[in-house]
Amino acid sequence: MARNLTNAAALFGSARKVIAGGVSSDARRSAGTPLYVDHAAGSRLWDVDGNSYLDYVLGQGPSVLGHCPPEVVGAVADQAGRGMSYAAQHRLEIEVAERLCSMVPSAELVRFNSVGSEAVHGALRLARGHTGRPKVLKFEGHYHGWFDPVLYSLHPALDQAGSADAPVPVPGTLGQPPSAEGDLVVVRWNDLDALKATMAEHRGELAAVIMEPILCNSGAILPSPGYLEGVRDLCDEHGTLLIFDEVITGFRVAPGGAQELLGVTPDLATFGKAMAGGMQASALVGRAAVMETIASGKVGHAGTFNSHPVAMAAANATLTILDEQRDALYGRLETNGRRLMAGLREAAAAAGIPLLVDGVGAAFQTYFTEATEVRDYRDFAGIDRALAARFHAELQDRGVNIVPRGLWLLSTAHTEDDIEETLRAVTAALAAL
Ligand code: PLP
Repeated sequence: MARNLTNAAALFGSARKVIAGGVSSDARRSAGTPLYVDHAAGSRLWDVDGNSYLDYVLGQGPSVLGHCPPEVVGAVADQAGRGMSYAAQHRLEIEVAERLCSMVPSAELVRFNSVGSEAVHGALRLARGHTGRPKVLKFEGHYHGWFDPVLYSLHPALDQAGSADAPVPVPGTLGQPPSAEGDLVVVRWNDLDALKATMAEHRGELAAVIMEPILCNSGAILPSPGYLEGVRDLCDEHGTLLIFDEVITGFRVAPGGAQELLGVTPDLATFGKAMAGGMQASALVGRAAVMETIASGKVGHAGTFNSHPVAMAAANATLTILDEQRDALYGRLETNGRRLMAGLREAAAAAGIPLLVDGVGAAFQTYFTEATEVRDYRDFAGIDRALAARFHAELQDRGVNIVPRGLWLLSTAHTEDDIEETLRAVTAALAAL
C-alpha cells in the first residue's frame, strides 16, 4: 500500500544536484524518498503529493502547540513587520527571560542562542570556565547537539564502545579533533554505582556532568527512582556542575521541564525546540552564582542572532500560552499520550507482536522487543531496529508520521479523534509487518 510520491521523488532528484545528500540535516536522511512537506496545520502535515499525515515528529519537537498556532503566527508576523534582526536589546527578550525564570526551577539568569547545540556549547564552556576544570562527563546514548566536544557515543557500535562497566568515547563523525576526546568521560546512564566509581577516578577534574534528564534520543527512558537525586549528591560532593539538557524535555514534559516533573534541580540547563513553538530559539539558564561568570564577561558568550526578535516573539507567545493554560494543556498531552500508549499495547497484543511502549504522555517510545524494560543505551542498542524501520514506513504509508527510530511526540493540538484515527492506522500497519 505505497503512497503516491511522484512529486517528492522529482524534488529529491533536483535536491541531490544542489544539496549535499539531498537533505539539509543528517537526521533527515531516509532509506527511500524523504518527506517533502507542502504545509502543516495543527496536528497534521500535507506533503507535495497531497498525502496528509497525523504528525508525531513535530519538527523533531518544537511544535508542542501543534503547527501554526494562531497566537504564535500572529506574534511572528507582527514582529517581522517591526524588524527582523536588531542585534540590540529589546523588550521581548526580557519578557521571555522573566517567563523562563518563573517557569523553570533552575533558571535564575538566562542567555539566549538560536539552537540547542549552541546552548549546550555555552553550558560546557561556562562549566569549564567557572570551575577551572578540564573534563566533562556524558552518558552513552545521550545527544547534546552536533558540536565537536560533545558529539561522542550517541549510538556507538557496541563492539567499539568498550565494556558496559568501562565505556570508551566513540566519535560521532570523521573530522572531530582528536584532542576533544581526552576531555570527555563517558559512562553508562541510570547506573549510580558506575557514575560514583568514575567520578572518584576523575576527582578534581570534572567541570560538569551533562545528561538528558529523560533520555529521548535512545528510546524514551525515565531515570530509575533515586538516580537523579544520587547524581545531584555526587555532583555536590565533587564540586562538579550538573547540567540538564532539556532541549527535548523542556516545556514538553511539564511547564518547567523534566527538572520540575522529577523534582531535581540542576546547576545549569539548556532549552530549545518547544521553547519557541516552531521558531529557532534556545536558552542557557542556571544558578545566578554560576551564570555570574558570563555576566562578568569572564566566560565569553555571543551570537549575531541571539534573542532574535522574531524568535523571541514566538517564544513569548508560546510560553505565555503554556504557562497560563498549564493545567489544561499538560493534562491533555498526558491523557492523549497515555491513551495512545495503551492503544498501541492493545493493538500489538492483538496482533501477537511483542511491543514495549514506555515514556511519558508527551514523549514515548515503541520498542519491538520481548524485554519488559529498557534502562539505558546498551539495552536500546540490543533491540533489533529493522522492525521499527518497517513499522515507521508502514505507518507513514497510512498517514501517520513518527520519528523513524520509534519516538512519538505529542502536541496539544492532537485530539481524541486523532488518537483513534492513529490507532486504526497502527492496527493496519502492524498487520502488514
Ligand atoms: N540536545 C538534545 C537533547 C537534543 O535532542 C538536540 C537535538 O535534537 C540538541 C541538544 C541539539 O539541538 P539543535 O538540533 O537545535 O542544535
